[in-house]
Amino acid sequence: MTTKLNISIAGIAGRMGRQLAKVAEDCGHSLTGGSEAHTDWIGRPLTDLGIGLASERLIEASASAAMQDADTWIDFTAPVATLAALDAASSAGTRTAIIGTTGFDAAQEAQIAAHAKSLVIVKAGNFSLGVNLLQTLVEKAASALGPDWDIEILETHHRRKVDAPSGTALMLGNAAASGRDADLSDLKARPYDGPDARRIPGEIGFAVRRSGGVFGEHEVTFGSDQEVISLSHTALNRAVFAHGALKAAEWAAGKPVGLYDMKDVLSL
Ligand code: NAD
Repeated sequence: MTTKLNISIAGIAGRMGRQLAKVAEDCGHSLTGGSEAHTDWIGRPLTDLGIGLASERLIEASASAAMQDADTWIDFTAPVATLAALDAASSAGTRTAIIGTTGFDAAQEAQIAAHAKSLVIVKAGNFSLGVNLLQTLVEKAASALGPDWDIEILETHHRRKVDAPSGTALMLGNAAASGRDADLSDLKARPYDGPDARRIPGEIGFAVRRSGGVFGEHEVTFGSDQEVISLSHTALNRAVFAHGALKAAEWAAGKPVGLYDMKDVLSL
């Protein structure tokens, strides 16, 4: 293990929160706190989560109470909750924030960038090694193949996911746009629907499926009149994101303040 961190986790009773807590302790870090909005969990010890945690810290309602003894805050919750926690982190003395929450709008992204003037922030729409490598491959393919090839991105997630397209699909869309020296905001196709839903040349299309318990599937296709290339990734469990987030937390220790992503962490 590298530096031992004092970690606090937002939304600790959530699907990702539980994974993160378990992986943090398994990696030898100290769990110094956790927060929840769900009233069933507030005030209860972390051991009550039933996932074999050693820390008996109580689950807090407020982010500032939960991060009191932490050097690292890991947040996989919802955009408004994450932004409120970043406000608290700047005054609580927490040094590092690892943000996995997705679904931020442009104004909220700008607020995160402003917080990165006083915090080390690693933010990624997907913390898996495979997806971050895929991002690099997509950028390269978009650049090599040129604007005549149709780029389409398909994502599938579990039925409880709230934002769409997924943060990962947007990451891949940004990578494709960047391969074409453009911004995704200029190339993103409107959903194909209705009697005049033709594909506009050069646009990047998105398709979304919600089904059962799927952890996350992404496929990027590049199509010409003669052939189609597919690049795809499947997450086989949620732990893959938690391991990536912990790797980011370890990497961030000692880094200067600023906004980083998994490409920085993985030197991609
Ligand atoms: P979830 O609903 O299971 O968990 C979210 C938890 O946050 C809930 O327990 C909720 O009560 C809690 N919460 C909400 N507001 C809060 C607040 N103000 N204070 C404290 N806790 C609060 O959802 P999930 O599946 O764990 O996903 C959470 C987020 O992480 C989503 O945005 C999802 O898209 C994202 N995600 C990112 C990655 C990645 O690799 N970046 C991977 C998986 C999920």
